[in-house]
Amino acid sequence: MAKAASAPLPTGSVIGVLGGGQLGRMLALAAARLGMRCHVFEPEANCPASQVADHTTTAGYDDLAALLEFARNVDVVTFEFENIPDSALDAIAAEREIRPNRRSLATSQDRLAEKAFLASLGLTVAPYAGVSTMPELQQAVATIGLPLILKTRRFGYDGKGQVRLKVRQDIDSALSLIGAVPSVAEGFVEFERELSVIAARSHQGQIVCFDPGENVHVDGILDTTTVPANVTDAVIDEAKAIARTILDALDYVGVMGVELFATATGLIVNEIAPRVHNSGHWTQNACAVDQFEQHIRAVIGWPLAGGERHSNAVMKNLIGDDVNDTALTGTAGLHLYGKAEVKPGRKMGHVNRLSKKTP
Ligand code: AMP
Repeated sequence: MAKAASAPLPTGSVIGVLGGGQLGRMLALAAARLGMRCHVFEPEANCPASQVADHTTTAGYDDLAALLEFARNVDVVTFEFENIPDSALDAIAAEREIRPNRRSLATSQDRLAEKAFLASLGLTVAPYAGVSTMPELQQAVATIGLPLILKTRRFGYDGKGQVRLKVRQDIDSALSLIGAVPSVAEGFVEFERELSVIAARSHQGQIVCFDPGENVHVDGILDTTTVPANVTDAVIDEAKAIARTILDALDYVGVMGVELFATATGLIVNEIAPRVHNSGHWTQNACAVDQFEQHIRAVIGWPLAGGERHSNAVMKNLIGDDVNDTALTGTAGLHLYGKAEVKPGRKMGHVNRLSKKTP
């Protein structure tokens, strides 16, 4: 059974990418710059990544024969989204190494496991409790207090799978609103700002963090990331130290997005994403090596680049009709994802605006 060797993969190697969205597209572009080829696995035809990848398999995650064939035709496998079924991962893992590892993916797939893992590292998380039944929800409200946020344990993204409870009357409808699935109740954090650290760890354990970005969400979707974040050097150092602790604990290989709340009393870890991250897109224009190349470097066993930025940056997501707004698209630093249909709430592209670097 030929798994990826721990030696660096040579030029011309094939990286298997599970998921063919914009993150897969930008991974494939970065891989091509390094002389690598990408083979994308994605259920939907004409996905953003397939337009630029060397090869695409269009098949579902339940098609084990297609998954096996895919795995046998690549040298190593990575992924651009988290919600990959275990059965698909089992089939691939029998043939090829998956980077980042499955423990990292499993931890991030389940918000309850994720919170317990982060807390076990001594990191601060919002008060939380696992909730599946009404008595458990009532107990969580009694312990944590209101307001709180109920989040599905699995399959949440861009603020989906969340219900906010402000007053006691909200308790009655919360479980049906969330879809009666296993959930986590989380204390509402009065944050001053939201930050994220995009961090990379190599196969050899080298860790490089990009400068933390400051994120603003609109309707649960990331709107802008600004770098540098408006925080002290001590907070920047602490944010990077938190990311290092997490990556080391998971023996992680690849890029991870670590989302943090900055509060008056310190940093609280919100969640981790074991992949390249929307809040790291600014690195494409403000750094010599961006998060996508850094991820590819890690996955193919190459040394990481330094991660320094040469400019300040504001990344603005182009959501839905934004993509037709020439005031937004008429500047340098434009990245479009090749999605044919414009839909409200759909990420169509982003633009990175640069300015002179301040520390
Ligand atoms: P998430 O899916 O966990 O990243 O949540 C999406 C967004 O909801 C976050 O970026 C925050 O703006 C907000 N949010 C999530 N959890 C909390 C919390 N415990 N307290 C306050 N705001 C939160």
